[in-house]
Amino acid sequence: LPALRDNYIWLLHDGKHALVVDPGDAEPVLAHLQRHALRLSAILLTHHHADHVGGVARLLQHWQVPVYGPAAENIAEVSHPLGDGDAFAIAAPQVQFQVLDVAAHTAGHIAYLASALSPAALFCGDSLFSAGCGRLFEGTPAQLQKALARMAALPDETRVYCTHEYTLSNLAFARAAEPHNADRDRYALACEALRAAGEPTLPSTIGREKA
Ligand code: ZN
Ligand code: FE
Repeated sequence: LPALRDNYIWLLHDGKHALVVDPGDAEPVLAHLQRHALRLSAILLTHHHADHVGGVARLLQHWQVPVYGPAAENIAEVSHPLGDGDAFAIAAPQVQFQVLDVAAHTAGHIAYLASALSPAALFCGDSLFSAGCGRLFEGTPAQLQKALARMAALPDETRVYCTHEYTLSNLAFARAAEPHNADRDRYALACEALRAAGEPTLPSTIGREKA
């Protein structure tokens, strides 16, 4: 769900129940749930920034659901604090998540890996974007390198569900930083066509981000 200026709120559903990741705004979530007759079952948060948590309080007024989020960050609505290596399952939609510590953009940023989905899905918030990474607000360059290395070690086909449509501006920077990369140039053309058609460039994949 496109939200705010350039955010995406990812919604997973089984036709009856839905979970959302990083609802920075409640409005598009409530509208989508109503339009498709879906019941909200869980909220997952990657980090504390307002454009990721801003809609949680309002969603909780409509749906009493668990809120998963980073234990190392101060988010009032989190009912299930999580850290690196934790695992949990949602009953409906049926999906299991592993938690990865990817702190750097913020001090406690986590990512959610659903490796049993086919293909596997990584909900990485503002830690990894397509053709770029989240800026360092609270962490160190060493933490960022560690977080990116962890995500790079995931299988190439893993889908990367990051939370901003930053791909084209990241690609412009990538062109300046690395002038000769044919993979990047082909990808930029494909992304320009997607955006011209009003489509998201996401999800990406780990293999593409490595390229
Ligand atoms: Zn952020
Ligand atoms: Fe953000």
